[in-house]
Amino acid sequence: MLNLAEYVWLDGSKPVQGLRSKTRVLNFNEQKQLAITDFPEWSFDGSSTEQAVGNDSDCILNPVRFVKDPIRGAGNYIVLCEVLNSDKTPHISNSRAKLRAVLEAGGAAQEAWFGFEQEYTLIKNDKPLGWPEAGYPEPQGPYYCAVGAGNVDGRTIVEEHMKACLDAGLMLYGINAEVMLGQWEFQIGYRGVKEESADALTTSDHTWIGRWLLDRISEDYGISVSYHPKPVTGDWNGSGCHTNFSTIGMRDPKTGMETINSAIGKLEKNHQKHIDNYGSNNDMRLVGAYETCHISEFRAGNSDRGASIRIPVSVYKEGYGYMEDRRPASNCDPYIVSRLLIETVCDIHLPSETLDFKTAVNG
Ligand code: ADP
Ligand code: MN
Ligand code: MN
Ligand code: MN
Repeated sequence: MLNLAEYVWLDGSKPVQGLRSKTRVLNFNEQKQLAITDFPEWSFDGSSTEQAVGNDSDCILNPVRFVKDPIRGAGNYIVLCEVLNSDKTPHISNSRAKLRAVLEAGGAAQEAWFGFEQEYTLIKNDKPLGWPEAGYPEPQGPYYCAVGAGNVDGRTIVEEHMKACLDAGLMLYGINAEVMLGQWEFQIGYRGVKEESADALTTSDHTWIGRWLLDRISEDYGISVSYHPKPVTGDWNGSGCHTNFSTIGMRDPKTGMETINSAIGKLEKNHQKHIDNYGSNNDMRLVGAYETCHISEFRAGNSDRGASIRIPVSVYKEGYGYMEDRRPASNCDPYIVSRLLIETVCDIHLPSETLDFKTAVNG
């Protein structure tokens, strides 16, 4: 039996990297338990993805994680890849390699767990789904977590995407309709299942594969997905990618609140560095309204959806758990957001040349 492998990678588009993929026909022994090394390296034309110049155009796809392909079905796979230069060093656009470097330099020791809340807007004919051809729908209020025609639109895609994520084995936590009509959210990350690891690499990889599946499924309906943090200007909520984060110390009842407060202090000192790397056009969203803190301010608060960092109600009542960084934009790169959180909170500081990808890749 022949197998289809969809090789997925991040391109070199600026300021927001896009997803690309191409299909490879492979031939696996049906009985065999597959490993990532069963998927061969492959090359692509980097001059067509803003990753190379025409006279030296080959970039390498290095498979790093594979999941079942829920669209093509049994025997087929989605293969997430890191992009390497022809000499096998990480390509400058390879933010995953930087995250690996920080984890290997000590970042993994505090066993950070992550949960990303990916907000997005479904778009048809340049308008969010459910919006009238001319003008605007009724003001915000009824749409968040709503049910019923007129209150939500796009649920067919959302349900199909949820099922696809679960069939692929992604750590999908849940979905909900958002505050603006046509806007939705899916969450990927820690969900209390013992055998699962909610580490930065796994949850970031799953978020990127989740995005790819959403784009791919929406394509069949002639609908596109906007990850813009302010898809409609005016009195409409923007889209974020709230990043929930905990270290071993935050999850310990004895040290929880103290560790969370110490992390907040470090995040305050590094506010600008985080903001600079939390997505593009985020200033349009972080305006100090619509459940955001102004981009130039840093504030932490219990249950406060107008803060930069929110301590969820269960966490401040019990005195341990996790925190929510509400600053990342919907178009952020989870590899960069999780790396910065680990760097800042766990005090990992690599020499800049390491982060400039002089290190060899080890798959
Ligand atoms: P909100 O109330 O902000 O909308 P959601 O219910 O949408 O929150 O999402 C909660 C997120 O918190 C999920 O992504 C989940 O994976 C994450 N999460 C829960 N517990 C932890 C934890 N201990 N460490 C890190 N992330 C966590
Ligand atoms: Mn949420
Ligand atoms: Mn939300
Ligand atoms: Mn949230």
